[in-house]
Amino acid sequence: MDAGSPPRAAFRYDPADAAAIALARARVLERIDLAARRAGRDATDVTLVAVTKTVPVERIRAALAAGCADLGENRVQELVAKAGEIPEARWHLIGPLQSNKARRAVEAADVIHSVDSVDLAQRLARLASELRPDRALPVLLQVNVAADPAKAGFEPEDLVRNLPGILEFPGLRFDGLMTIGRLVEDPEEARPAFVALRTLSERLRSIDGRIGSALSMGMSDDYAEAVEEGATIVRVGRAIFGARPG
Ligand SMILES: *Cc1c(COP(=O)(O)O)cnc(C)c1O
Repeated sequence: MDAGSPPRAAFRYDPADAAAIALARARVLERIDLAARRAGRDATDVTLVAVTKTVPVERIRAALAAGCADLGENRVQELVAKAGEIPEARWHLIGPLQSNKARRAVEAADVIHSVDSVDLAQRLARLASELRPDRALPVLLQVNVAADPAKAGFEPEDLVRNLPGILEFPGLRFDGLMTIGRLVEDPEEARPAFVALRTLSERLRSIDGRIGSALSMGMSDDYAEAVEEGATIVRVGRAIFGARPG
């Protein structure tokens, strides 16, 4: 076992907590459905990724039992440990990926949302071709549409310039784009970034149709606005599992 991986807790099933998780998930899905209707969209086109960072494995199992088949982690080490415990879920890596952890990420993740440079795409392409030659690895290109200096991601014009080269990399399936919004007081303030990601996606697809139309955007405080603006994947942690410690 890695020194840093969480201790294997005895499986403790708390029916009240499992019911609370199932109810919270149902509420999120209902809000996704309402937001999709407002936008004239079909809610079945939106995938809910339940973000499990800091959530212990027994609570994640409760979420899985409630129907959360897509799970997200922002740290490679935590994803590797939890995917080992719960291999039946689809694991999304949503956080920054350092090149020295790329191999473990390709081994353990089913989708990587945080491809934020040409170098990282190239490295992942090499690893995916080696480790899973018969199954292209689904990835999203992370874009810093809000131009937040604290956030990773391609600068939009940089991605426009580099996209054709990136799409040549083998072993990867380029499903679309991802962004992490700024922290905002009012979810309406997040909307311009969602519009910007959708608009960039349309522009990129008119330049090179090999990139997919997926849009991973929206978190607990603003997923409804993201769905109204076209999100096909929302990443929701606290609204399902409650506040994180710390
Ligand atoms: C933690 C996290 C989320 C989920 O955030 P919540 O506010 O708990 O919904 C989504 N995306 C990324 C990249 C994250 O790190």
